[in-house]
Amino acid sequence: MQEQILRKFFLGFIQIHILHHANVEPFYGAWMIEELKEHGYDMSPGTLYPILHTMEAKQLLTKESRTIHGKVRKYYTITELGERVLEEAKKKAYELFKEIKD
Ligand SMILES: [Zn+2]
Repeated sequence: MQEQILRKFFLGFIQIHILHHANVEPFYGAWMIEELKEHGYDMSPGTLYPILHTMEAKQLLTKESRTIHGKVRKYYTITELGERVLEEAKKKAYELFKEIKD
């Protein structure tokens, strides 16, 4: 029960986190898994990729194949809609953080 509720909350945090990084520079899935791990989220590809696909379907991210050092990887970039959603989410997250931090 508690697990389930937290997982639902974290899904929102993770999506904001993903948008934040996509806004800084394009990323690929394996990089994001490592990044999320550093923030304490243990996420498997089987969990992350459906989230990325949903965000792509909602036009928050776009995907393109790039070959770097002979490796083909799918890179995700933020869209204009994604930027607007991120701005709004950041405001709300900051407002909430100020309220609950102590
Ligand atoms: Zn991060």
